[in-house]
Amino acid sequence: MDDGTSTPQLSHEDYLRAHHEMNETYGNYNICFNLYGYETYENSTYEQWPSTNFNPLVNHMKSIGKYKDDAINVYLYRSSAAAGVSSTKNAIGVSKWQFKNDPQSQVLIHEMGHQLGLSHTHLGWIIENCEHVTRNPNDTNYNATTRGDNILDTNAVPDFRNEQRDHGRKALRDQGFTVAEAANIINNDAGQGNNGFAGHPQEALIESILLDYGFTSNEINQIKWYGATPFAYVNSNTCSYIPDSRIQDPNSPFFKDCEKTIYQISSSDLHNHMSYMDVSCRNQFTTGQGIFMHEYIENDNSDYFLDRFVQHPLDLYTRDHEGDIGQEPNIHTDIFWQSSDIWVRNQNDGLLNQTHQNPEYDPSSPNYVYVRVINKSCIASTGTEELFLHWAKAGIGGGWPALWNGEINDPVLMGDLIYEQTIPIIQSGGEAILEFEWYPPDPDDYVDYSPNNDPWHFCLLSRIVTPNDPMAFPEISGNMVKRNNNNASKNVTVVSNPKPGSLAPGGAIFIGNIVGLTSATFNFEFKTLEEISSQIYNEAEIVLTLNEDTWNKWLDGGRQSQNIEIYPKGVQQLIITDNNAWLNNLVFGSGEWDVMYVSFNFLTKEVTNKSFFEYFAIQHDAVTGEIIGGETYHITRDITRPHFEASAIVTEDIGEINFSANSIDEAAKYNWYAPDGTLVHTGIDFTFTGSFAGEYTLEVIAENDAHKDYYYYLVESKQNDDQIISLSPNPASLNVLVNYQVNIATTANLQLVKLCDTFSTNFTLDINENEININLANYPIGIYAVVLITDGQPVHAKQLIIN
Ligand SMILES: [Zn+2]
Repeated sequence: MDDGTSTPQLSHEDYLRAHHEMNETYGNYNICFNLYGYETYENSTYEQWPSTNFNPLVNHMKSIGKYKDDAINVYLYRSSAAAGVSSTKNAIGVSKWQFKNDPQSQVLIHEMGHQLGLSHTHLGWIIENCEHVTRNPNDTNYNATTRGDNILDTNAVPDFRNEQRDHGRKALRDQGFTVAEAANIINNDAGQGNNGFAGHPQEALIESILLDYGFTSNEINQIKWYGATPFAYVNSNTCSYIPDSRIQDPNSPFFKDCEKTIYQISSSDLHNHMSYMDVSCRNQFTTGQGIFMHEYIENDNSDYFLDRFVQHPLDLYTRDHEGDIGQEPNIHTDIFWQSSDIWVRNQNDGLLNQTHQNPEYDPSSPNYVYVRVINKSCIASTGTEELFLHWAKAGIGGGWPALWNGEINDPVLMGDLIYEQTIPIIQSGGEAILEFEWYPPDPDDYVDYSPNNDPWHFCLLSRIVTPNDPMAFPEISGNMVKRNNNNASKNVTVVSNPKPGSLAPGGAIFIGNIVGLTSATFNFEFKTLEEISSQIYNEAEIVLTLNEDTWNKWLDGGRQSQNIEIYPKGVQQLIITDNNAWLNNLVFGSGEWDVMYVSFNFLTKEVTNKSFFEYFAIQHDAVTGEIIGGETYHITRDITRPHFEASAIVTEDIGEINFSANSIDEAAKYNWYAPDGTLVHTGIDFTFTGSFAGEYTLEVIAENDAHKDYYYYLVESKQNDDQIISLSPNPASLNVLVNYQVNIATTANLQLVKLCDTFSTNFTLDINENEININLANYPIGIYAVVLITDGQPVHAKQLIIN
């Protein structure tokens, strides 16, 4: 009953513990509870003491949909004034403090006892008409099954504070006080010192009436200043009954029923969950209470239990994540595609080794898929339930059902059923791991469709299909896994060293609108949830490689992005610059899909000792924000690999520059970029004739693991050389003012060349002027080289960012 952050905070483990303790206790009476789930909700009105507003609280919860018709709802409120309440069918209240600190969930167990028909063991202790002590059915005073809690094996036993209070009220009524007056004068100790009758106009009279009735002067003092004594006549530490000598006095009404028969109090009465003993004493029901609860459920006079206990009792599930308790829908994560209960092994060792591997294609050797099924319900499964396992190419564009059943096969099969398997009988609370042999399709069939010739891994979907445990919600692409605990998926690409020929380790994913019936607009999110100082986007270049169609969709949608920039060293590539990066407003027609490649190159100057990273790519519906699908990348880095840095020896000569990279002592690729951004050479050494002023870049990429580093070398213009003096502003949006000097040449041009693109413009410069103002309104945003060309030769280049 708050947003979950107030003290004490309740954790996932607190809910599990309470559920476990409930089943430990009730299991002794063959009653079992299936935990449906939990959530937090902030409401300042209803979080307060519910003894006066519990029913309004329940009605409020019904009105906002936070009430399940087919469950017993437990509401945890912030106030600790009342430990628990069970005044409404189907709903229990427990104070959050009590719930957190209750040593064995006794208050929850007590309130649940009320839900199952049990009364307090002291119910109906009315002095004039009480439950009698006798347990002999032939005794004419026998009323054990019709008075009190109506249960034979709980003794006629009062709550002694209430009994003390009621003796006091009776004493006053016997002497002429009205029922209302007596009730007003003698109260229970509320622990606040103002519940006594001290100061009452008839204080002295009241005292003498109580004394005559048989109260001790100590008791009268207590009642006078505070009210009746909590846990009177019991020792809460030893959970024992401590009557005093009045028990032997036949004239004293104390420690006797209304027939003056001495109470027979057993240990079980002092430990009963339905008593008002200290919670630390309460640890058992009687056999009679167990029978009573079963009769209450099975007679079900108000049609209250049968639906919920009989209709869909079996509940099998596969977890979406480690802490998933099978709640439907699973509101506890948005990352619903990395089930810890589905894993792939390249050999059949998955019962022992549950570390997920990427599937490896081998026409003669299968992979093995393992799926764990848990029975969270109170009954065993029948052994007829089935598990369907499907594959699809890794993607974030949804796809149920066509993607997963073989319907999407043009130009290439995108997914299919692997096969179905009968789930063995699983006992309540038990689990089974099913093993599937699997020959994934040949990755060569897919390389034409994936940037970077990536083998393009797989997504797996498992579904428990049985009339005994039907889907809770219709299976609709996008949220079918999150909503149904029968379904789970594994969409994890393990990123490790690159394949030979690729220097950008990563993984391809399909995106788009693969099963959409109408065109739709999508946003793509890229992020990590790791809250630590060392983040992967700081340690590595995260680059998105798009196919031409997707690139054009992004351009057509207005190039909308956040924390993403165009990557200048590639074609149709974007680079992540910070966490929570977005690529927005891409429209895909019905059935349209494409493939994106996400790659990770660690930067040797930025890496830390962190060896494992998790990164997410997520597709959202741009209108509703709903998550369509996601991919998890698990990136590992060998922190023991030798360190290297890019460096070079550069000698400038007239008309040429000699570049010589220092070898990094391992197989590597050395890329040289001229000041205009063009890749001018790959290799350790080269001589650049016709060189010009500006910044040269050396990129060194290790072949083994694609770690990389950069080295920059600035060739300066001499004072009187023809050159670009400045670009202003930079970055620029509308205009850029280029200051230049041309002292030597007789012709001069200025080129604006968009890096890694075909877009460029050319201006003839007036050599008698020294500035030109360029209107950038029709320029695509991106990184440009501004190149000064004199007498037909480039002589100087500077970088300009147009945004
Ligand atoms: Zn109660």
